[in-house]
Amino acid sequence: MPKISYVNGSFLNHENAYIHIDDRGYQFADGVYEVVLAKNNILIDWDLHCARLRRSLSEMRISYAFDDNSLLATVRELIDKNSLDDASIYIQITRGVAPRAHNFPKGNVTPSVVMTAAAPVFPTNLEYKNGVSVITMPDIRWKMRHIKTISLLPNILAKQLASEQNAAEAVLIEDSGLITEASSSNFFIFDRSGVLRTHPLNNLILWGITMHGVLKVARRAGFKVEESAFTLSELMESRGSFLSSTTKHILPVTKVNGVQIGGGEVCHEIQELMKLYKNYVEKQLS
Ligand code: PMP
Repeated sequence: MPKISYVNGSFLNHENAYIHIDDRGYQFADGVYEVVLAKNNILIDWDLHCARLRRSLSEMRISYAFDDNSLLATVRELIDKNSLDDASIYIQITRGVAPRAHNFPKGNVTPSVVMTAAAPVFPTNLEYKNGVSVITMPDIRWKMRHIKTISLLPNILAKQLASEQNAAEAVLIEDSGLITEASSSNFFIFDRSGVLRTHPLNNLILWGITMHGVLKVARRAGFKVEESAFTLSELMESRGSFLSSTTKHILPVTKVNGVQIGGGEVCHEIQELMKLYKNYVEKQLS
């Protein structure tokens, strides 16, 4: 069964799925993306992913109008052609192909749209149960992190450093001393007084779709929630912390820079939140 990918309106064998070298995504990382999870052929939080994609395109001034339902139909066809039920879908839209020049191309350049589907790879049961370790490092990214751009160089360097130190993620710290998020996840703590805290939704973090779901279920369940940033020392003293993303859901963190936090155990608040979030996803499947 060959892997099938989508390129500008065509479903192609993955080996033949090419984009021109003059594509502005290749030349300048001039594009945006989404990663969406499909479970039993249902796209989790599809409307929120579409809204974020539209916002990213608009901030980048890439004119690509799409209809959520038609895009959904194409994604479903891609999943079907790859004989998957559960899938991680990657959607990338760049400004298109034009001779290399920094300014936007003149005239009507058609944005390039590519999509791939793969079986999702989640953390292991043991990682969910015992938590993972993370390292911290300075956040050296640009200041428009709410745009889900394909320009990810600082993120990949951070993730690489983390994996070289056998850590699951790199948690990023602003010059101000406040933690923003991680290289490919949002980041939360239950602080010393039991308040669930994460960085406010502004230009310094990506507005994670999972983060949105986590905040929603936490508030609904009566947890005390604050969108307020915290420092490394608050993290070290916290009851527990976790990462969130589409391909991790809620992943507890029990070690930071080699030091155990929360007594090295996943606190009961996080265990409860993991159950609530699981229900939130499962509700969309029925
Ligand atoms: N922050 C960053 C920097 C990310 O790359 C991601 C994952 N794309 C997230 C947060 C989590 O976002 P989501 O929950 O939408 O996957």
